Amino acid sequence: MTGDNQNFLYCPECGQKNTVTYVNRRHWVCSSCGFNLYNNVAAAVGVIIPDEAGRALFIRRAKEPRAGFLALPGGFIDPGERAEEAALRECAEETALALTDLRYLASFPNIYVYKTVTYSTCDIFFTARAEDFSPRAADGEAAGFALESVRTREDIAALPLAFPSAARALEAWLASLSK
Ligand SMILES: [Zn+2]
Repeated sequence: MTGDNQNFLYCPECGQKNTVTYVNRRHWVCSSCGFNLYNNVAAAVGVIIPDEAGRALFIRRAKEPRAGFLALPGGFIDPGERAEEAALRECAEETALALTDLRYLASFPNIYVYKTVTYSTCDIFFTARAEDFSPRAADGEAAGFALESVRTREDIAALPLAFPSAARALEAWLASLSK
């Protein structure tokens, strides 16, 4: 499966075979019964947490997609949850860090392929500080941590990042530091 979302051999509503098509990279439609399932943009968060030396904290992803690559701490927003709450919750789950001074930075679109489904996401990025900078893996999402010096666009381009939205967020962070 390459992420074209032609997942439904049978319609999950009426059970007809080969009647469901994926339309406009947005929704699955059954030509037999009218079943219409939207694959709306999913909201996710990521947090840039610098240490005392100004290096950014990354988790090394333990799981697919992009296992082994570096990601900013974060994840999908839960139903009914604010983006700010998701940022604090995901960071607590992945790094056990308690954050302060959470501030909105920027948002960037991303593509997230999980098993046979391709999701379009809007990744919402924040910056934050950790009072006690001693990250530890709490939930199995992180295979480890990395602290990387991010001073230039070349530094960012050299990082083995899991997702391009993180690179754009780091560039926005760099730009904010130089103001
Ligand atoms: Zn149907």
